[in-house]
Amino acid sequence: MTRLIKTRASDEVYTQNTKFVVYTERQLERIAPLQQLTAEQRFEMRVVANVLPFRVNQYVIDELIDWNNIPADPIFQLTFPQRGMLAPEDYDRMAEALMREAERSEIQAIANDIREKLNPHPAGQQEMNVPMLDGEPLPGMQHKYRETVLFFPSQGQVCHTYCTFCFRWAQFIGDKELRFASNEADSLHRYLAQHKEVTDLLITGGDPMVMKTHHLKGYLDGMMRPELDHVQTIRIGTKSLTFWPQRFVTDPDADELLALFTRLVRGGKHVALMAHFNHWREMETPIVREAIKRIQATGAVIRAQAPVVQHINDDPDVWARMWRTQVRLGIVPYYMFVERDTGAKRYFEVPLERTWQIYREAIQQVSGLARTARGPSMSAGPGKVEIQGIDVINGEKVFILRFIQGRNPDWVQRIFFAKYDPEATWFDDLVPAFGEEKFFFTDEYNAMQEQAGA
Ligand SMILES: *Cc1c(COP(=O)(O)O)cnc(C)c1O
Repeated sequence: MTRLIKTRASDEVYTQNTKFVVYTERQLERIAPLQQLTAEQRFEMRVVANVLPFRVNQYVIDELIDWNNIPADPIFQLTFPQRGMLAPEDYDRMAEALMREAERSEIQAIANDIREKLNPHPAGQQEMNVPMLDGEPLPGMQHKYRETVLFFPSQGQVCHTYCTFCFRWAQFIGDKELRFASNEADSLHRYLAQHKEVTDLLITGGDPMVMKTHHLKGYLDGMMRPELDHVQTIRIGTKSLTFWPQRFVTDPDADELLALFTRLVRGGKHVALMAHFNHWREMETPIVREAIKRIQATGAVIRAQAPVVQHINDDPDVWARMWRTQVRLGIVPYYMFVERDTGAKRYFEVPLERTWQIYREAIQQVSGLARTARGPSMSAGPGKVEIQGIDVINGEKVFILRFIQGRNPDWVQRIFFAKYDPEATWFDDLVPAFGEEKFFFTDEYNAMQEQAGA
């Protein structure tokens, strides 16, 4: 269905896709442009999609992917499974089972076996960050850093499309145990009322923007009560501007959603849409441009963050152009992340040294207004750790690191040094420099882990 949306007399926005149509592993064969691939390539996708989550919608297929540039196209890499995402022995095992048309239960068992090896719960998320209310744990919430509480509404635990590199992939494979989710607006509000140190609520998922507006209202309208006045910022983590900008333009409850943002802003909250953009190509369609304008007209601010991932954006020019585009559109560049040590990381990971070079070479190309992007940052167990640089100190080559966020707020802004390692791709690969046995926070962090039973 093609619909012409008239926004202003002089400004017409076209989109072919106003009805949300989505494909998963079982419907791979129905995705028309995939027919240009060989049967073998399509089988490879099936093998991977039986282990890792796969979900893509028609807008992404029709309007974001350049099908003349397959498989290199960054949006194709962002959304479609690739053989290299599984270790060869794991790939072969699943391929063999599919080839002989094994029972569903056997396929499931093999998939679960492989998934277990892919570090489904990075950075101790399950055990360590669970807040307590009246002596009971609140499973749909995480409270790791003093100022910010994460909330995972149960209706928001999918996405319009899944990113192939997602660090929350384990939530999407149907295993309820792996999922944090809550439908308890009441316990959210009560917890926040008891924690005056919290200034930010971050609604996340999945993607909270898959929720109907009336569900979101249930969580958010209550935030304007006087006892929650200390929560000044409502952040919404979302990839919907990339995967379904229609959410803010043509969806039946789009206007109601924007009215909710306006109400929150008028009620004194800062509403921050934490948009996930990996590539400037995600911001080029007329409908995403319209969505951005509509969100901004409510007084909400869009901030942008993403990890550096191989095959998609491991190129400083891509980041520089992305940040420049964001500034032009009034979006604030926020974080550049290091890809986490989970899921298909073997396919996506970039050495820390290279990630830092990409950051530096990208930042050098942009004006100060785009240098609000911090990073590269690793969301590790002890905190968010930024790679500040690589240098030689007292004759030893080192990584210079700094806490942007810490489990203990006292760690924030402290600098520390790790031995240079050209192969390191994640925090856990690093060891202290200068022959020291541990980092300054190691003992304290170990004690925190023990206390949490992690
Ligand atoms: C990144 C993150 C936050 C937010 O940190 P900011 O630096 O304030 O953006 C909060 N909680 C968790 C668990 C995080 O990983």
